[in-house]
Amino acid sequence: MTLELQGIGVSRGIAIGRAHILFHNQPDVREYLIPAFSIEQEVERLLDAIEQAKQQLKSIRNHIPANAPADVTSFIDTHILMLNDSSLTKVPVDMIRQRRCNAEWALQLQRDALINVFNEMDDPYLRTRRDDVDHVVNRIHRILADQEVADHEIADGRLKGHIIIAEDLTPADTVLMQHQGIAAFVTEHGGATSHTTILARSLGIPAIVGVESVRRYVQDNEPLIIDGEAGIMIAGADESTLKEYQQRRIAFDEHISSLSRYKSQPTRTRDGKTITLLANAELPEDITTISNAGAQGIGLYRTEFLYMNRLAPPEEEEQLAAYRDVVEGMNNQPVTIRTFDLGADKTVDGGRHLTQTVVTNPALGLRAIRLCLTQPAMFRTQLRAILRASAYGKIKIMFPMISTMHELLQARNLLEQCKLELDKEGMEYDRQVEIGAMIEIPASAVCAEMFARHVDFLSIGTNDLIQYTLAIDRIDDTVNYLYDPLHPAVLRLIHMTLEAGRKFNVPVSMCGEMAGDPRYTRLLLAMGLEHFSMHPNALLEIKQIINETDLSLLPANTLSIMEVSDALEADMLLEQINAPIIIKICLSFGFLIRTDKRILII
Ligand code: PEP
Ligand code: MG
Repeated sequence: MTLELQGIGVSRGIAIGRAHILFHNQPDVREYLIPAFSIEQEVERLLDAIEQAKQQLKSIRNHIPANAPADVTSFIDTHILMLNDSSLTKVPVDMIRQRRCNAEWALQLQRDALINVFNEMDDPYLRTRRDDVDHVVNRIHRILADQEVADHEIADGRLKGHIIIAEDLTPADTVLMQHQGIAAFVTEHGGATSHTTILARSLGIPAIVGVESVRRYVQDNEPLIIDGEAGIMIAGADESTLKEYQQRRIAFDEHISSLSRYKSQPTRTRDGKTITLLANAELPEDITTISNAGAQGIGLYRTEFLYMNRLAPPEEEEQLAAYRDVVEGMNNQPVTIRTFDLGADKTVDGGRHLTQTVVTNPALGLRAIRLCLTQPAMFRTQLRAILRASAYGKIKIMFPMISTMHELLQARNLLEQCKLELDKEGMEYDRQVEIGAMIEIPASAVCAEMFARHVDFLSIGTNDLIQYTLAIDRIDDTVNYLYDPLHPAVLRLIHMTLEAGRKFNVPVSMCGEMAGDPRYTRLLLAMGLEHFSMHPNALLEIKQIINETDLSLLPANTLSIMEVSDALEADMLLEQINAPIIIKICLSFGFLIRTDKRILII
C-alpha cells in the first residue's frame, strides 16, 4: 500500500532511500528530594553534564566540513554559548540548593521558564528560538540519564544514504548527519525559519518538517521518497512512482548543475538588453555565497544584524570594521548599505528600548527612517561609519521606508553634517557617494517622481510595499493568503516607480522577494526593471530566465496584466508570459508551480 504524507517542504531536492527512525525522546523527568549531605554532589553532577555537553558540541564543531556555510558553525556556537550562560549554569544550581531537588528537575524547571519567555515573543522568528533551548536542555538531560545513543548512532556511519525520520533535530545533529551522508530528513516538528531548516537549506539536504506523528507510520529501513519542495513523503511507492521520482531526481540534479554555467556569463536578454543582478546580504558571512553566485554587487545590505543580541547599539569603529570588510570582500563591486531598519518585526535588543512605546500596529509605527530620525546620535554614528567605509570601495547609502520629502531631506542633511565633521577631522570618504531611497510605501510609489529628483537611485522593497498596499501584516499567518504581487495595485505602483526613474534618468532596482521569484522575472523585465537584487541562492536561476528571454517575443498584452481585476485571469496571463521558460524549469524539477491562489500540476 502506498502512503503519502504531507508536511512543509523546507529544503528542496528529491531523495530516495531507506528510513532510519531516530528515537531521540526526552527522558522522563521526575522530581526527587536530595539529602542535604548530597546537595553539592548533585550540583557537581549537573555541572559535569553541562561540561560534557559542551565537549560534545565542540567535537561536533570540529567535524564541520571546511566548505560548510558559516551558518553551520554559528548555530553550534550559539548552543555552546548557551551552555556557558548563567541561565543554565547558575540558575538550576541555585534551584538544586534551595529546593533540594535533583539536577534533572532543576534543569526542567529552568527550561520551562525560558520557553515561556520565548513563547511570549511577538516575532515568529524569535519564537522559533525556543527550539534552541530545548535542543541544549535535551542534550544535558540525555547525558544525565546516560542516553547518549543518538550521537553514537549518528557518528558510526550507518546513516549514509538514509532518510532520517525524527521527532525533531538539533542543528548539531544536522551537521553530524550531513557529514555521514544522509539523503534527507523528515521531522514531526519544526518550522520554515528554525535553525535546523535554515541549515538544511544551506547544506543542501532535502527536508520536510511538520509531518505529524510520522514515526508512527514509517518503519525502520522502509524505502521512502522525499520531495523537499512539495513537502511530500511517500512510503511503499509502486514501480511507476519510483521511476517517476528517479527521473525527477536526475532532472533536478542536472538543473542545479546546469545553472553553474551561467555564473560567468553576462546577464543579457536574447535581444541584447543588459540587466544587473545584485545580491541581498544580511550577515557578513553571506559574502562568500554572494561571490560564488557571481553577483555584480550587493543591492541591499541589511545592517540590522549589527544591533542584535546586545543592549547598546554598535559604536562607529565596530560598524566601520563591518562595512569595510564587506566592501573589501566584494572587490570593488558596489555595495548598497541600507541604514538601520529597526522597529516593527525587526525590534532587537540594540533598538528595543527605542521603540517599546509603540504597542499597536508596529508596522505603521516608529520604524526604519522614522526611527533613524528620532535617534539622530545613533543614526549619525552609522552614517559616519558608512562614509568612512566608502574610502575602501564603492558604497551607496540607502534610506528605508521613506514616505515624505521632509524625511529624505532631513536624512540628507544629517549626512552632509557628517561629511563636514569628517572633513574637519581629516577623515577619508567618497565625496561622490550615491544616495538612494527605498520605495516601500504606496504614497512613495505614487510620488516616486518627487523623490527621484533628489536621489541617485531608487529601490523598490516589495515585501513592505505589498504589506502596506494590501494592508496585510507580513508576519501574520492568518492573512498570508492575501499576499499577492500580481494585485493590480501592486503592479501599478511598481510601474509608476519605474516610470519615474526613466523620466528623471534615475536607476531603479528591486530588492524585495519578488525580484528573486522566477515567476515574475519576465513580467518585471517587460515593465522595464533593469536592476534585480535577491537572495544569492536565487541568482543563477533568475539569470537563466533573463538570458533565455527575448523581450520582443513576449505577448503584446503583457502589460495589460496591470488592468486585470480577476486573480485567476492574471495567473493565466502570467503563464502565457512565462511560457515556455517556467514550464521548462518545473518540468526539470518535475513538480508543481505554486501560485498564490492555486497549485498547478504540470
Ligand atoms: C522590502 O521591504 O521589500 C525589503 C527589501 O526590506 P525588508 O524585507 O528588510 O523590510
Ligand atoms: Mg522593507
